[in-house]
Amino acid sequence: MNILIINSGSSSIKYQLLEMPSSRVICVGSIERIGSTDAISNYRTDNNKVEKIYEIANHKAGLERITSLLLDAEIGVLKSTEEIDAIGHRVVHGGSDYTATTLVTEEVKEKIKILSPLAPLHNPANLEGILMAEQIFAIAKQMVVFDTAFHGTMPVKAKKYAVPNELYEKDGVQAYGFHGTSHKYVSEKANEYLNNQHTKLISIHLGNGCSITAIQDGKSIDHSMGFAPSNGIVMGTRSGDIDHSIIFYMVNTLGYDLNEVSELLNKKSGMLGLTGFNDLRDIEEEASKGNKQCILALEMNAYRIKKYIGAYTSAMNGLDAIIFTAGIGENSSLMRQLICKDMEYFDLNLDDSKNDLRASNLRELNTEDSKVKILVIPTNEELEIAKQVYQLLSK
Ligand code: AMP
Repeated sequence: MNILIINSGSSSIKYQLLEMPSSRVICVGSIERIGSTDAISNYRTDNNKVEKIYEIANHKAGLERITSLLLDAEIGVLKSTEEIDAIGHRVVHGGSDYTATTLVTEEVKEKIKILSPLAPLHNPANLEGILMAEQIFAIAKQMVVFDTAFHGTMPVKAKKYAVPNELYEKDGVQAYGFHGTSHKYVSEKANEYLNNQHTKLISIHLGNGCSITAIQDGKSIDHSMGFAPSNGIVMGTRSGDIDHSIIFYMVNTLGYDLNEVSELLNKKSGMLGLTGFNDLRDIEEEASKGNKQCILALEMNAYRIKKYIGAYTSAMNGLDAIIFTAGIGENSSLMRQLICKDMEYFDLNLDDSKNDLRASNLRELNTEDSKVKILVIPTNEELEIAKQVYQLLSK
């Protein structure tokens, strides 16, 4: 079965074509800077690697460009769009109604639209991707995998905010949790590796967006992002946890309007707001040259993650392993070192020489005598989505 995975962002489309159940990747690609005259298209198969700049006005044009690459006589991998059996769409917010992979129906599309105010950077783009794919790949089964789905197991005491009950019961004000596909994938890999399904894990996803999940017996029981993907630890451009009084102060006293506050907290804060840089590689390089803002930002980032590790260890009354994943978690030995420093109380001890080795596979970075394992597990959200789509279609 050929399954195309589509991940539409506000100005990008990432895609992967997989053959299931073998999990063979047929091609991988992305189009970034959609809406500009210099959008970048990357496309890779076993035999070809092509990067090109195009004018791509919108998502429809983006998906058409992707289709023509897939069907290209020289570098393409398909003869007809009908060779695609199913499309798995990554959708960020599924609210509390969708806790599993779902076939796209009119009702599902309407729900994604209704939930857009809760994930304004993601849900509208995700829906656009579905609508376009329905037109272009008319025969394929369209399925959605929600980022929120894995967190459907969070107990009420963890997901409810201490505000009047009505807001929870009538208006859906609660923590939903995000990056669920990634947390599910790496925690299942960890359980396989540890040969134990009844583990207490903390999964630390550090990429452009960052989040932490407490996972007990394979189920998400608490998570650092909340109502929207903005809460929790420090991210590339998002602030993470702040006291909500700051928003009132900015509006009532400093004269910001609410859109400006939202823009500032989501797009101009986090590591970017603290240092002027968004990419952790630049921040690490600046820090190594003695840039004090960058050194402090790295310390703040690690400090907040350490606090979540402490909180989630007490929530689970124990800890078997922490998992580092995504761009920063998989690649930054410095962040891992700052996070794992001075954690002897938890019996969590990093082996510095293992931590410094560069590799791209699942690996264990703790010392031999560390009770808590420290794992690096490369995430693969596309494969997880393909697995879920395949399972649903094989039922
Ligand atoms: P992701 O969202 O998972 O693709 O992660 C993207 C982020 O990972 C980038 O913004 C970088 O900050 C970070 N990253 C990628 N490679 C490295 C690296 N070698 N060292 C430090 N950070 C990295």
